[in-house]
Amino acid sequence: MRVIKSIDETLFIEFDDENANTTISGVPVIFMSKKTLGSLLKGVVGALGEGARPLLYLSGYNAGQKSAPVVIRHWECRNLDEKLSATIQQFARYGWLLLKDIKMSEDKKEITCLVEKSFESQAYYGKSDTSICYFLKGFLCGYMEIICNKENMICEEVTCQAKGDTVCQFVIKPKFWKE
Ligand SMILES: [Zn+2]
Repeated sequence: MRVIKSIDETLFIEFDDENANTTISGVPVIFMSKKTLGSLLKGVVGALGEGARPLLYLSGYNAGQKSAPVVIRHWECRNLDEKLSATIQQFARYGWLLLKDIKMSEDKKEITCLVEKSFESQAYYGKSDTSICYFLKGFLCGYMEIICNKENMICEEVTCQAKGDTVCQFVIKPKFWKE
C-alpha cells in the first residue's frame, strides 16, 4: 500500500492562540489526555448503561462519515489501497488506535478491522465484561462505508482489549443481507 504523500506532509499543525484555535490541516482540534477522554466515555457508559451504546455509536458513525472525505482529500488518495494506507497512518498519528489489519471477505460484503490500543478500550485495563468500543465501532462503520463505497452497513465488535482479548475485532457488514 502506497500513498503519494508522507504523514508529515499531510498533517500540519497551526496554532492561533489569540482565538484558542488549533488546527491540523485546517481542521480545528482540541488536545485532551487519553485518560480524561477515556474516563469521560467510561462515565457516560456507567451513567447511562445500555443507553450509552446507541448514543456513542451514532456520534461515532456521524464523525466517521465526515472524516473519511477529509482524509481522502488531504492525502489525495486515488484508490482503495491509498485510502487504507492513509487511514492506518492517520489513526496512529492521532493516537486513536493501531489499525493492524483490514480484511475484505471473498464476496467483498464484509470488512474486518483488527485494532490494538484503542483509546476507548484502554480505560478498562482488560477488566470489562463486554466489548466497549462503542464510539469507534460507529466511527469505523461510517468511515469504511465512505472509503469502500458502501452504504447501509452495521459494525459489531466481536472481541475487545477492554475485556482482555488480544485485539479489538470489528466486523462491518450489510444491515440487510441480499442474496
Ligand atoms: Zn474494543
